[in-house]
Amino acid sequence: MHKGNEPAAPHPALSELLPPLSDHEALVEANRCLFCFDAPCTHACPTHIDVPRFIKKIASSNLSGSARTILDANLLGATCARVCPVQELCEGACVLGAEHKPIMIGRLQRYVMDHAYDGRQPVFSVAPPTGKKVAIIGAGAAGLSCAGELAKRGHAVTVYEKRDLAGGLSTYGIIGLREPIPVALAEVEMIRRMGVEFRTGSELCNDLRLADLRSDFDAVFLSFGLKAAVQRLGIPGEEDIIDGLSYIEQSKVDPQSLKVGASVIVVGAGNTAIDCATVAKRLGAKQVTILYRRTENEVSAYRHEMEFIRNEGVEFRFLTQPSSVVTRDGHVAGMECIRMALGAPDATGRPTPQPVLGSKFFIAADQIVKAIGQQRPPITGALGLTTKDGYIEVNAAFETNIPNVFAGGDCIRSRGTCSTVMAVQDGKLAALSIHERLAARVAGGV
Ligand SMILES: Cc1cc2nc3c(=O)[nH]c(=O)nc-3n(C[C@H](O)[C@H](O)[C@H](O)COP(=O)(O)OP(=O)(O)OC[C@H]3O[C@@H](n4cnc5c(N)ncnc54)[C@H](O)[C@@H]3O)c2cc1C
Ligand code: SF4
Repeated sequence: MHKGNEPAAPHPALSELLPPLSDHEALVEANRCLFCFDAPCTHACPTHIDVPRFIKKIASSNLSGSARTILDANLLGATCARVCPVQELCEGACVLGAEHKPIMIGRLQRYVMDHAYDGRQPVFSVAPPTGKKVAIIGAGAAGLSCAGELAKRGHAVTVYEKRDLAGGLSTYGIIGLREPIPVALAEVEMIRRMGVEFRTGSELCNDLRLADLRSDFDAVFLSFGLKAAVQRLGIPGEEDIIDGLSYIEQSKVDPQSLKVGASVIVVGAGNTAIDCATVAKRLGAKQVTILYRRTENEVSAYRHEMEFIRNEGVEFRFLTQPSSVVTRDGHVAGMECIRMALGAPDATGRPTPQPVLGSKFFIAADQIVKAIGQQRPPITGALGLTTKDGYIEVNAAFETNIPNVFAGGDCIRSRGTCSTVMAVQDGKLAALSIHERLAARVAGGV
């Protein structure tokens, strides 16, 4: 795991994939927008950015006003512009998509946010101090969004983060091709300029106790995400398999030290697996094979990601279940696998893969990476939180079973896909609930 406050220079093969739009391109694209009334793209954005409004301001060369429109709804507009699955969200809802090309909303949003950060403009003024204090655990998308929204309203916010750098998965987990580290850190800096205090290297349940935070602060927001490790495969030789999250993290923070095999197997077929395969291929692996126990119809990776990774030259082996790691002379030599067939649907409605008798076979590889989904949120039991399927349970106001302790982001996402924009929205809505509670106390003189 990376330690230190200075990430290494990014590897050129993993630098940001899409170039920024030029002023001319942005203007032409903005002028294609129909500026719909009650726009479907705004409804489709989980943070409900007023998309036609920010695009109209690009068309009238008011880039600061445009940035303001984005940040009013979503403080992590620069990250979301890069990582949102726009095909499934705002751009997927664009009325121009049916017969023509949808507006490039994500890239226009990036254009505006790049302008805002280049200018280092103080985008927000904050309300006078309320005298109320909030502690936030975890400086990922949910924590940063909550911190900024509370700071805007005059509350004193301290963010406790266990890692050396803030930003959560935007800093350590999303590959540089989509989001370089400086983009995530610039957003942290903006939140810091709003008056939020960051204490990195502080871990709840290790350096901090929830009971102390509850007595020192008026409210606590838990946004510690999921465990920074993928689930166990439970097969012999698992200790020789590399964790996909560490693989990606190293490719971002210290790419020169990442040893990539010549022939790499990636186990899993979600977006993390696609990212691991991309890292392997771009950092020199000759052969990269993704193993998945169901068929292409059941993969959780987005279609555009599947298309991307195929173009990178990565091969898929569907209906393939790894059964053990094979080593020779202390080195990984490959995997024993079993062929699968699809059976009856499970509780989630997906067909259950069943092993085909006598179908064992071997795939040679000198490196194996597992990317089968992150483990559930840690420390929930130690904190005495009520959980559902291992995720923190919250009410409609994002409050947990412990009074004045709120939660949001991946650690509460027991259903649906985890995404940055959903975490940002959780942080924003939780901040509004916390503010309402604290404002009532201020009004009541408590
Ligand atoms: C490989 C990968 C790729 C992804 N790609 C995309 C993508 O392209 N688009 C997209 O929308 N989403 C993507 N996601 C999902 C997205 O990154 C998450 O949904 C989002 O980061 C969740 O934000 P969060 O604030 O809930 O958690 P996190 O970003 O995980 O932040 C949690 C923070 O809490 C800290 N923390 C943990 N425990 C403690 C503790 N005890 N004390 C103090 N601090 C603690 C952690 O160090 C971390 O900084 C990806 C996820 C992964 C794993
Ligand atoms: S935040 Fe994401 S979903 Fe919302 S408008 Fe921006 S790119 Fe689209």
